[in-house]
Amino acid sequence: MADKIKMSTPLVEMDGDEMTRILWQWIKDILITPYVDLNTEYYDLGLEKRNETNDQITVDSAEATKKYGVAVKCATITPNAARMTEYNLKEMWKSPNGTIRAMLDGTVFRTPILVKGITPYIPSWTKPITIARHAYGDVYKNVEAQVKAGSKAELVVTDADGNETRQTILNFKGDGIIQGLHNCDESIAGFARSCFAYALDCKQDLWFATKDTISKQYDHRFKDIFAEIYENEYKAKFEAAGIEYFYTLIDDAVARVIRSNGGYIWACKNYDGDVMSDMVSTAYGSLAMMTSVLVSPSGVYEYEAAHGTVQRHYYKHLKGEETSTNSVATIFAWSGALRKRGELDQNAALVDYANKLEQATIQTIEDGVMTGDLYLLSSLENKKKVDSKTFLTEINTRLAALMG
Ligand code: NAP
Ligand code: MG
Repeated sequence: MADKIKMSTPLVEMDGDEMTRILWQWIKDILITPYVDLNTEYYDLGLEKRNETNDQITVDSAEATKKYGVAVKCATITPNAARMTEYNLKEMWKSPNGTIRAMLDGTVFRTPILVKGITPYIPSWTKPITIARHAYGDVYKNVEAQVKAGSKAELVVTDADGNETRQTILNFKGDGIIQGLHNCDESIAGFARSCFAYALDCKQDLWFATKDTISKQYDHRFKDIFAEIYENEYKAKFEAAGIEYFYTLIDDAVARVIRSNGGYIWACKNYDGDVMSDMVSTAYGSLAMMTSVLVSPSGVYEYEAAHGTVQRHYYKHLKGEETSTNSVATIFAWSGALRKRGELDQNAALVDYANKLEQATIQTIEDGVMTGDLYLLSSLENKKKVDSKTFLTEINTRLAALMG
């Protein structure tokens, strides 16, 4: 075989947890290192290491991403009560994705991978719908509390001169709950610019929706900032590219999305994007067939899979049972990151390798070789379900042929 492809700049590698951590290593061993002289700066975001470093490792990995510009991340556990005991945690550490998104202040773009033989649950969705999720604030950076009966809850804002404004949220007659949310104009503007730029990049329409009829200050601010940036910076470019920016109410957007053929970018507020991306990816086939990239306004990229650590499969794997876990989204995280690294470094061989890795992956599924989740969905006559590792070696057979 020809010499391995060299990399001039390190890629930031963020390892993770459970089944995806197993797949991570296999993907590197079977599909990457035979072809690429892999140059990564490695950060172990597995829960044990996060606990050991008091989560400093997560912060360090985000700083490295800012420094080098491109990262690839494995799925990680977001601790809950059960994980506290399972991993004997010092603290209920925050979601690494949340920490990284907050530090990079970017937008997450998620696009389904379409393959022959798998018809979306909504058959009219013949083109991918890309979801752009705002990655900062709202409920993910909230302050909340349980409130006792008889309490008065107020929204108090003290300005830079010390002047206070107060609004009563509620005089609680019984026990209840409150929540304080925020977002920042700068972050919303960054979100808007990422979306407009990405839409121009892919020559696709951009849709955006909020609940501005009910939320006349909060959601309306999102609408206004998008409108202002569009008018001043992007309208002419959109018209020249023959694409549209379209704003509507979130309820109306959901109805229109269902009736559409896909082929556009749907910009969502943070929570809407979290929920809708799971719905859209499931409708297209499988969570494991969804690519995901966080793009910061400064042009930093972090690639990952949209799904979690596939815990149930991991416990089977630990018991020595065979698993059939879909590695496509994790493979596309690697190919996306390596291609972007190749583009930035003018490394044509690396870009070519990344494209062929994706081609070989899709070809494998279209040849009828697939994991259990896709086997249930595929209409191919010659389909065959394989275990996690066989799926990777089957991809490699095709990749080796493409690489010559
Ligand atoms: P999950 O890991 O996405 O898995 C949920 C179920 O979806 C699986 O049990 C499996 O169904 C199916 N599935 C997901 N990915 C699959 C794949 N690649 N191949 C085959 N089937 C797949 O979500 P979860 O169980 O809710 O969460 C597990 C852990 O992941 C949690 O600790 C959570 O915090 C974390 N998480 C991390 C991220 C991230 O890092 N980006 C995102 C979400 C969740 P069957 O069991 O029916 O086969
Ligand atoms: Mg989600």
